Amino acid sequence: QVQLRISNVSKTYPNGVQALHDVSLDIPPGMYGLLGPNGAGKSTLMRILATLQEPDSGQLRLGHLDVVHQKDAVRRTLGYLPQEFGLYPKARAEELLDYFAVLKGLTNRARRRETTAALLRQTNLWDTRRQQLGGYSGGMKQRFGVAVALLGTPRLLIVDEPTAGLDPAERVRFLNLLSEVGETGVVILSTHLVADVAELCTRMAIIDRGRILLEARPLEAVAAL
Ligand code: ADP
Ligand code: ADP
Repeated sequence: QVQLRISNVSKTYPNGVQALHDVSLDIPPGMYGLLGPNGAGKSTLMRILATLQEPDSGQLRLGHLDVVHQKDAVRRTLGYLPQEFGLYPKARAEELLDYFAVLKGLTNRARRRETTAALLRQTNLWDTRRQQLGGYSGGMKQRFGVAVALLGTPRLLIVDEPTAGLDPAERVRFLNLLSEVGETGVVILSTHLVADVAELCTRMAIIDRGRILLEARPLEAVAAL
């Protein structure tokens, strides 16, 4: 089981905004919640973890990998679902997932079909796999994003504010899907919604203005507030 260790990470943007201030977190396997208001630094931390941005200082280790200096290896083991998942509205879900699978290096056609079929079933999109993504609801798009993110069977899945704009039924379905993924790896859920972490995360941290205020199990965190 993989462990993620974030040590003394700081990040200041060129405009002088200090988005992260000496952030340290040990993130065990399971579903982990990063809770904080808008502007707290959640996306900055998620993008650094996803190797899309570099910290000014500090260390991030995913298992034995150094996230800053071994980007290619890290990218092979992580899935990242950004806030807005860019979609091709005319593409059909099944075809686009197959295309992303090719990009991920799944060259064997028969095995690719098996993999994508399993993911479409897991994300509850099997029945609508031949529909165009432009006709998908917000929740279906997010679940499709998870299917894409899971293509390489990542050991770390990062999801940034995934439930924004989902209706209650879609939200529950989506969170259950993440919690299923959390049973076999690390899932980091970044959100400003307390309910998202309270329900399903095994551990959580609260971040505000770039600083970690608290790191605990959700129930302990609620008791401390
Ligand atoms: P969150 O995801 O919690 O809303 P962000 O990480 O997006 O927080 O932002 C943290 C702070 O950094 C905010 O004050 C935001 O305005 C600022 N910020 C984010 N991205 C940039 C950027 N590319 N350039 C300058 N400031 C940024
Ligand atoms: P978030 O919800 O993660 O805070 P935003 O909607 O604030 O995202 O930011 C969207 C994009 O704009 C991001 O790429 C972020 O880096 C950038 N950004 C955010 N705040 C600033 C800022 N103050 N100056 C420049 N870019 C920013």
